[in-house]
Amino acid sequence: PNNYLAGLPTTIFTVMSQLAVEHDAVNLGQGFPDTEGPAALIDAAADALRDNRNQYAPLTGLPELREAVARSNARSYGLSVDPDREVVVTSGATEAIAACLMAVVESGDEVVLIEPLYDTYLPVLRMIGATPRCVRLHPPEWTLVADELRAAFGTKTKAILLNSPMNPSGKVFSVAELDLIADLVREFDAYAVCDEVYEHLTFGVAHVPLMTRPGMRERCMRIGSAGKSFSLTGWKVGYVTAPPALAALVAKAHQLLVFATAPNLQRAVAVGLNLEEDYFHELADDLRRKRDLLATGLHALGFPTLPADGSYFVVADISRHAEGRDDVAFCRDLVRTARVAAIPVSAFYAPDGPEPPRHLIRFAFCKREAVLQEALSRLGGVF
Ligand code: PMP
Ligand code: GLN
Repeated sequence: PNNYLAGLPTTIFTVMSQLAVEHDAVNLGQGFPDTEGPAALIDAAADALRDNRNQYAPLTGLPELREAVARSNARSYGLSVDPDREVVVTSGATEAIAACLMAVVESGDEVVLIEPLYDTYLPVLRMIGATPRCVRLHPPEWTLVADELRAAFGTKTKAILLNSPMNPSGKVFSVAELDLIADLVREFDAYAVCDEVYEHLTFGVAHVPLMTRPGMRERCMRIGSAGKSFSLTGWKVGYVTAPPALAALVAKAHQLLVFATAPNLQRAVAVGLNLEEDYFHELADDLRRKRDLLATGLHALGFPTLPADGSYFVVADISRHAEGRDDVAFCRDLVRTARVAAIPVSAFYAPDGPEPPRHLIRFAFCKREAVLQEALSRLGGVF
């Protein structure tokens, strides 16, 4: 048996979702919307199923989806992308992250990661045999310190994995921060894997792909997710945009991991990416109202929230109510006493690294307003 996998705990998202069911809690833990995505996509997926679209799709994705990904890169970011040589469709961003890392990283290489980090990054690197070099953002502003970032780069650095907008912090990296990263990527002749699944979910600030910064077009693999862009997290359709040489390697990894992604869902996601700009603005506006509702309510209950300009998540400081408990103990109590599920932020740090913050918990606000109100009223009954 693989001892590393045997020792890997079940993901915190599943653990907290199970506890939420057990305690009949409002689940603001695992990040998934509680309403369906656009009917146009669901209809397109259902129609495609009945239209004999049920055998293997082409390895790199249906042409219509690759074209839609290329167009969306042009429309949103002014990037000119060849749909035939620079796009690979994957089974979710989760697969895309693994495939992009496999494309450029080998055993013994180092990869720079930014903490707090999404829970698949470290295990995938470990399975590749690469060494993570973690840099921490400093709460409450989630500040990136230039010298600390530089110190993580070295002669063995092969890549940086950047998540912006970021889970769990909600941070959207500024252009100045992106340029700091870009300078180091160029200086150390490295690649960047850009997890941009929340690209369309930003509130009052623009998401800028690292790929658009000087010298970065040739070094970046940019990852999107239909799950996040169309509120259809169960579909698991992702897409990678990368220069031809890198896209060819991502396609090789995809060939081994999955080979081809469900064709009816691909066709529907192409419909989604071709929706009018208004759709994406309304999606972000709706989430922004939800963030404001939850953050304001949490503040009023003595849980100050940290700035969050994007994603599904807002992080709250539990210090005032912790009574000696760390974030994990607090979340376990919360799901029982208040019947509200949240995720401890310490789960987003390397388990063998320095002490993580223990006073922060993450709430997902991608829920109906009545559900957010119910969570606040339950919390109000306890605090
Ligand atoms: N990256 C981040 C930062 C995420 O938050 C998530 C998902 N929830 C993913 C990747 C995975 O996306 P997908 O569901 O498309 O695999
Ligand atoms: N990305 C989601 C979150 O952060 C969960 C995805 C999962 O459960 N694997 O909540």
